[in-house]
Amino acid sequence: MDEVIARVAQAIAAAERILVITGAGLSADSGLPTYRGLGGLYNGHTAEGLPIEAALSGPMLQRDPALCWKYLAELGKACLGAQANAGHHAIAELQRRKPGCWLLTQNIDGYHRAAGSPMERVIEIHGELAPLYCQSCGAVDPELSEHLKRPLPPRCRQCAGVLRPPVVLFEEMLPEQAIARLYAELRQGFEVVLSVGTSASFPYIVEPVLRTRQAGGLCVEINPDSTDLSALVEVHLAGRALDVLPKLLSHI
Ligand code: NAD
Ligand code: ZN
Repeated sequence: MDEVIARVAQAIAAAERILVITGAGLSADSGLPTYRGLGGLYNGHTAEGLPIEAALSGPMLQRDPALCWKYLAELGKACLGAQANAGHHAIAELQRRKPGCWLLTQNIDGYHRAAGSPMERVIEIHGELAPLYCQSCGAVDPELSEHLKRPLPPRCRQCAGVLRPPVVLFEEMLPEQAIARLYAELRQGFEVVLSVGTSASFPYIVEPVLRTRQAGGLCVEINPDSTDLSALVEVHLAGRALDVLPKLLSHI
């Protein structure tokens, strides 16, 4: 695999426009659970017999906020209890060295920010877990960790409405600004796309890969498992993000 890593590193070094796509697998190396695939929490169903896509959905937050929050709180506690790893740091370093390197992340843990990725070139397509805000009056509440110690769902101090995180739940719309930025950058095109730790379950994650391949660019996947992307990319590095990313960077 080392030879292939060196070849990919060469292509990245020669490229100007690079897109790194990240998913839960990158943060799995920080100890956070993923949803699907290797180390997946919800390859089956939740304790309530629901698929995770139903428990963590916009309609569920309205219908049964305590149930939805049970799973939001699991993610929240995991995020607060861990930190960015060498993979996040390698991506941040790559972005510093390459001013045309963009990051599209599905992760809501905030670790790319913590690792020092330049936020003007980070597209958080599923939002972030904090700060919470009130669904009724809009008040912002910075105390995620305090709320997680109390009965769920967390309530607004001002009006007792249900608080929620600024994340995109299943069946909710993507943030317009993030989508606009993504498509503006896709129109300019990328020479290399590097997909890291994602099962690529969403069309807007697969599309940059398809477009880049069609335009003759190089697409690379880093994932110990095979995914829907594996057949679409030119190179599949079947290893952990934590091992492969720092190795890749060491050649650039
Ligand atoms: P996913 O759970 O569907 O898939 C994770 C992928 O990572 C799998 O293909 C798995 O094989 C791979 N993987 C596991 N360990 C890895 C490692 N060490 N290195 C590289 N790859 C590894 O995750 P997804 O595709 O990101 O989509 C799930 C949704 O869940 C997203 O909407 C995301 O917002 C949300 N989510 C976020 C977090 C987080 O913020 N850290 C955690 C769980 C879920
Ligand atoms: Zn309120």
